[in-house]
Amino acid sequence: MDQVARTPGNPLLEPWTGPFGAPPFDRIRPEHFRPAFDAALAEKRAEIDATAANPEAPTFDNTIGALERSGKALDRVGSVFFALIGADSNDALEEIERDIAPILARQRDAILLNDALFARIEALPGIRTELALDAEAARVLDRYRTDFRRAGAGLAPEKKARLAAIGERLARLGAEFGQNVLADEKAFVMILEGSDDLVGLPESFLASAARAAAERGAPGKHAVTLSRSSVEPFLQFSARRDLREKIFRAFLARGANGGAHDNGAIMSETARLRAERAALMGFPSYAHFRLDDTMAKTPEAALGLLRRVWAPARERASREAEALQAMIAAEGGNFELKPWDWRYYAEKRRKALYDIDESELKPYLPLEAMIAAAFDVAHRLFGLSFVERRDVALHHADARAWTVVGRGAEPIALFIGDYFARASKHSGAWMNSLREQRKLDGRVLPIVVNVTNFARAGGEACLLSIDEARTLFHEFGHALHGMLSDVTYPLLAGTNVAHDFVEFPSQLYEHWLMRPETLRRFARHHRTGEPMTEAQIERLNAAQRFNQGFAAVEYAASALFDMELHLQSDPGEIDVAAFERRELAGIGMPAAIAPRHSAPHFQHIFSGDGYSAGYYSYLWSEVLDADGFEAFEESGDVFDAALAERLERFVYAAGDTREPAAAYRAFRGRDPAPDALLRKRGLTGERGVSE
Ligand SMILES: [Zn+2]
Repeated sequence: MDQVARTPGNPLLEPWTGPFGAPPFDRIRPEHFRPAFDAALAEKRAEIDATAANPEAPTFDNTIGALERSGKALDRVGSVFFALIGADSNDALEEIERDIAPILARQRDAILLNDALFARIEALPGIRTELALDAEAARVLDRYRTDFRRAGAGLAPEKKARLAAIGERLARLGAEFGQNVLADEKAFVMILEGSDDLVGLPESFLASAARAAAERGAPGKHAVTLSRSSVEPFLQFSARRDLREKIFRAFLARGANGGAHDNGAIMSETARLRAERAALMGFPSYAHFRLDDTMAKTPEAALGLLRRVWAPARERASREAEALQAMIAAEGGNFELKPWDWRYYAEKRRKALYDIDESELKPYLPLEAMIAAAFDVAHRLFGLSFVERRDVALHHADARAWTVVGRGAEPIALFIGDYFARASKHSGAWMNSLREQRKLDGRVLPIVVNVTNFARAGGEACLLSIDEARTLFHEFGHALHGMLSDVTYPLLAGTNVAHDFVEFPSQLYEHWLMRPETLRRFARHHRTGEPMTEAQIERLNAAQRFNQGFAAVEYAASALFDMELHLQSDPGEIDVAAFERRELAGIGMPAAIAPRHSAPHFQHIFSGDGYSAGYYSYLWSEVLDADGFEAFEESGDVFDAALAERLERFVYAAGDTREPAAAYRAFRGRDPAPDALLRKRGLTGERGVSE
């Protein structure tokens, strides 16, 4: 079954014989995708049908092996397509995306609900002992069983039909939810008129606000929009309390303005359908269903962590509030601290306490040096070297490629970095794979991409803020998870792990950026070459624990609400916004802080299933990164070779070959201790900031 070789003239369907076997982006055009998808989908369908209808008795190889070998063309076409959608999109590609997304989803469901295929998989565990599977093969078999069962395979036909209907309806509700939020964001703009409206706003903010105003038909003025990247800096810097309140209230009201774009009914129906789906699957609540296939395992475990953080976070936040209230009083202000005041006074206090000025630090953090630093840490921990190459055709002229060389001097991966913002690129930062690692039928080396949105400086070195440098390290941690992957089966490769474990390798990697060992060597002034001073390094690290009561409270409030909502076994005609208000009152939400995401625009949990009953995941992974990095600190050497070796073997190279909890234990020698998170955030007396 090799349709691929029979379709000449389409570079997506021809063998890639160029450098590193990388996709030939220089020859790929938008019009190649639709025929390539059609051919690749047909090929995969034929492979699945042949496996399901195989007249031979099921064996590991003719069932799981066949599934793992299927869909190679679809993987290639899809990974190239979605890489372009993220990093260099255009109208033609977006039109194809709207067509192809539901087709891909339907085909995926059709495979997971294929009775004959499921029957073959289910027949295998019975003969597991005779199969004498090695640990990784046993794991991949388990993963297939779990994925099929969680999709509803094996249920009675009427239940499967109902699940399919629920799935379709939820997909539609999720899309509408996001579109409503976007509509409310587009409908509002706050134009800043005279210089009075601009008091306190820094140059960088004014530049983007001027662009936003021009785009909104108010050239020569400044506009604040309802995107977080506009609202948060305005709240942080604007001295105009009335304008801060206005933008804050509009930001908070997204999705809750009544009328056609109100999300109230969507949230209610979503909660109800999710509970029904969980019941069909035999779980007491949607949260139980979701958590069953994670590292946390149960809602109780996730809630336990959130509550453990909540109390000290609230305690610290109340001390932070007192300090901010005192600043207001010292300025002669006669008002109570409100949510639209917090960021403004916290920013002033940060400057006063730590004397940190972004514009003073940025010259020490040029992009080129931060890339070198990220590579150097990988060299010291994992023995990797990076050799830039210019012979690979990439997806955009800005992108760069490096051969990643392992300890044995042999190439292990191709790394592609695409760092600059541009109109054709989605916002944010991410890692994706153009090819995943595998050893089935011979070793396949991964091709991994990091995409970020740093502002290009015309002619000058691109200088990063410390947050941007952290983002670079974070995404490079994900990239290493893909590049160091050393598994046989593609289903288990790299970052294909539980959603409450996947941020561990990325968040852990951030720690090495902030170490003096790294900053002393790489944080050098881009003109003079002078290293950052010891005092600057110290202040930078101390400031990491500033305002952490606020940050933990706004995050944990959203995560607690998410979990409690999805623990409702029979939500009925629930008023989700009212439920949220009751929950927040119940946990004693501080009056001067709003949840990071309020229900009517909480896209993580309502725009698709993504982080539903899963918003806790960031904090869960943070327990692992805080506790995991303490292992290095305790050893007295943050590059300790024995620890690094275990970290590589059981985490970065291991993909999903073992349960996340077992992988962590194998690295750390014990279970994670949540106290490390409290110490990292300065939420205990020990190592905390003095108020
Ligand atoms: Zn991440």
